[in-house]
Amino acid sequence: MLNIDLHSHSTVSDGLLSPEELVHRAASRGVRALALTDHDDVGGLSLAKQAAVRSGVDIVNGVEISVSWCSQTLHIVGLRIDPEYPPLLRGLEVIRRGRAKRAQEIAAELEKSGIRDSLAGASRYAGNPNLIGRAHFARFLVELGLAKDVKSVFKKFLRQGKPGHVEHRWAALPEAVDWIRKSGGIAVIAHPGRYPISAAQMRQLLVEFKELGGAALEVVTGSHTAEEYAIFARYSKEFELFASVGSDYHGSGESHRDIGQLPELPEGCQPVWKQWSDLTTEMSASADS
Ligand code: AMP
Ligand code: MN
Ligand code: MN
Ligand code: MN
Repeated sequence: MLNIDLHSHSTVSDGLLSPEELVHRAASRGVRALALTDHDDVGGLSLAKQAAVRSGVDIVNGVEISVSWCSQTLHIVGLRIDPEYPPLLRGLEVIRRGRAKRAQEIAAELEKSGIRDSLAGASRYAGNPNLIGRAHFARFLVELGLAKDVKSVFKKFLRQGKPGHVEHRWAALPEAVDWIRKSGGIAVIAHPGRYPISAAQMRQLLVEFKELGGAALEVVTGSHTAEEYAIFARYSKEFELFASVGSDYHGSGESHRDIGQLPELPEGCQPVWKQWSDLTTEMSASADS
């Protein structure tokens, strides 16, 4: 079985390992192809590629773009993107600037609950000064003793109706899909089971996403249950979307699944890497040797 992991994070966004450490971990776990998909930044890809030389791991150029769609936040993964495509880089830069502004607003909200200096506190956990997110705030809140771990933080803070929540507008779905496609990449809806939307809205999303040229759906991800694998396998078949597999690894203790430790796609799914003949040929050749 090919060990492929098409969703992971490094310190360039909110992962705990540097791109190099991530690649070494993937190699030690027998991963053959790894997509580094940092939130709204592609700055880790060249480091990951360098670290992967002679490691046996193929790095797939990836990104995870934050999108607002019908008052929901969605994550759209781009795979095999061109990390130098100017419209993509400009778009991501705009999102990162929005994150910086949102971080100030989050800190102001937390201040109202008596939590002081959280912007400075969160920034200490941000490996990339240009990319700040809720996970960095969450780590600071754990440091303050306000929750036992990052997961528990998100039960009490930083989400709708809780201290530290702010509304935010991310990229629009059509532009995110466009940046990915026009840079030569494949747009994938990340962890579809995590969006609090009805089945009717999910169908609407899949229709729109297809019309825009989106091509794949994460079926097996670290944040899906076995039941969700089956649900999204059915959607991928019905809507003729390729199926993707990714751990969404952020670091040990902060992720459901370790890198490269995922079950196979359910029967009948079309794997997104099926059309990547260079990758699959190379992998089957080395599997034979
Ligand atoms: P942001 O893009 O800044 O809004 O932050 C989203 C990130 O926060 C996700 O990619 C996760 O890393 C983290 N996150 C969100 N919800 C949770 C949760 N319930 N448990 C653990 N991490 C979470
Ligand atoms: Mn994250
Ligand atoms: Mn995500
Ligand atoms: Mn992710």
